[in-house]
Amino acid sequence: MFELEKIKELYEEELINFRRDLHMYPELSLKEYRTTEKIKEKLTSLGIEIIDIGMETGVIGLLRGAESDPTIALRGDIDALPIQELSDVPYKSRIDGVMHACGHDIHATTLIGAALILSSIRDKLKGNVMFVFQPAEEVNKGAKLMLEKGLFTDIKADLIFGLHNNPEIPWGKIAIKKGGLMAAVDTIKIRVKGRGGHGALPHATSDPIVAASAIIMNLQTIVSRNVSPLDSAVISLGTINSGTTNNVIPEIVEMTGTVRSFLPETRQMLPERIKEVLENTARAYKVDVELDYIFELPAIFNSEELTKLAYGAAKEIVGEEGIVEPIPSMGGEDFALFTEKIPGFFFWLGVGNEERDMNYVWHSPRFDGDERALIIGSTVMSNMVLKGIDYVNNNRG
Ligand SMILES: [Zn+2]
Ligand SMILES: [Zn+2]
Repeated sequence: MFELEKIKELYEEELINFRRDLHMYPELSLKEYRTTEKIKEKLTSLGIEIIDIGMETGVIGLLRGAESDPTIALRGDIDALPIQELSDVPYKSRIDGVMHACGHDIHATTLIGAALILSSIRDKLKGNVMFVFQPAEEVNKGAKLMLEKGLFTDIKADLIFGLHNNPEIPWGKIAIKKGGLMAAVDTIKIRVKGRGGHGALPHATSDPIVAASAIIMNLQTIVSRNVSPLDSAVISLGTINSGTTNNVIPEIVEMTGTVRSFLPETRQMLPERIKEVLENTARAYKVDVELDYIFELPAIFNSEELTKLAYGAAKEIVGEEGIVEPIPSMGGEDFALFTEKIPGFFFWLGVGNEERDMNYVWHSPRFDGDERALIIGSTVMSNMVLKGIDYVNNNRG
């Protein structure tokens, strides 16, 4: 149904302009006011209804097709990061210290592209399309907030597709993988409480710094000894805070970290095992320890059926040679929360181009992606919507 060359001719320039505008005026999580206005403006001009769920930023658009059911949702996140852009492109960020270093400008634009494409064939759509422009992905808040406001409970959809750009995959390629693609994300906060005193008289103290050091090392053995070598997990401590001066043994050490995993059973095992290691190490060092374990996001897990559907949809646009099977990432995505409510599929859009110096990793101050990927992402997503409508109808029997 979709001819990429024709679609490119019609919309590519418009998409590149839209993306550059977002890129020049990036906004931090939950402050995406201008971005929200720009998206609303564009959707409204296409005759797409805006659904107000009482959020200050983010947009939900509903394109009504020829039939009122089913509804397929597409999700793109829209927030930027507190990073100073270092590359010297003409569309470089005009906002000091803020940058689209994760390429969410690309995601928002890809969804706008799908809105352009699908609204042009609305008379032929056997269902509705919902465009979910999600704020605050970088702080793990946006998806949760939208769900709390009634998305996918009061406002129904049957299926959701989402993408993230990937600069490690060349532009022109679509990365599709069955099973785990992005990891579950949890946060740990650890507080070690000892008995402080003079640095010269350690025997009269319970040194929380030495205890914390042992805890840090012992925690790593959970990944190496308790998680199967064929499964994956990460425990990384990102902060350690303690002490005031060189010759005082302090009372408290505070540490925070991130815990990543894929399999639900591994995710369940980790907090129990972390607690055991903490408590028993603390006992050996005669200190007390407290653990705060915060479950943040489940893993992105693509079902076999939806993977097949997505593969078929992508193949019609980029051919079999345009599809790659990626190595999963231990990075997280709050898209996973949507898939706890309705079935969903998530994939990566290749945006890398080594020759043009566009292969810096996510969150790099030099991050950029090849804009020729925009129209490809939009067309693939549009085709996923068509396949998704058929899929939902067929499964209803
Ligand atoms: Zn990011
Ligand atoms: Zn991102």
